[in-house]
Amino acid sequence: MPPIPGSGLAKGLAVTLRTMTKRTVTAQYPDVQPELPPRTRGVIGLFEENCTVCMLCARECPDWCIYIDSHKETVPAAAPGGRERSRNVLDRFAIDFALCMYCGICIEVCPFDALFWSPEFEYAETDIHELTHERDKLREWMWTVPEPPALDPGAEEPKEIAAARKTADKLQAQEAKEAAEAQEAEQSRPGETPGRAPGQAPEAEGQE
Ligand code: SF4
Ligand code: SF4
Repeated sequence: MPPIPGSGLAKGLAVTLRTMTKRTVTAQYPDVQPELPPRTRGVIGLFEENCTVCMLCARECPDWCIYIDSHKETVPAAAPGGRERSRNVLDRFAIDFALCMYCGICIEVCPFDALFWSPEFEYAETDIHELTHERDKLREWMWTVPEPPALDPGAEEPKEIAAARKTADKLQAQEAKEAAEAQEAEQSRPGETPGRAPGQAPEAEGQE
């Protein structure tokens, strides 16, 4: 059967109309940033204060792309008669993202919550050496790490938060006590000239 004249045009227009009514899937990046899932593996951030230089992450990394240098320092005894302690001090922490395969093992094995995923992904470089991020840069990524998801309403409070709250309360109580003691001491010296510098001799005030 010969084709009906104009049927090809009608078919083409039907396809155009169908496509026009569909939701667009074109990503307008970089004008519009993509909405990434919270667990996106973009880059690794280092929370240096939590790192004890245990080397677990560097040992477990399948690509050997974590570089850590440290030295030992002796900490004096906390009380007379106590023992000195030695602690590791971090000198270098770097990750080579040219080698990293984003497996997340380093983050999983860190026993002290010092490594985190950030969804940040715009760190392409023209020089491959620039993909080795040193500790300062790894710390900068920490600011882009999203907050952890909220706990279930019935879940127990994590013991770290309970301990941190207890310490904060203790410090607050201690500060309040010290402030009250200082105020009391100030009030018990009524004859003193207010504003005299500590240790200033009284006769020095009348010398001018
Ligand atoms: S994500 Fe995997 S490959 Fe990358 S640094 Fe961590 S352990 Fe190594
Ligand atoms: S596993 Fe964690 S605490 Fe240990 S060296 Fe790596 S980042 Fe630091």
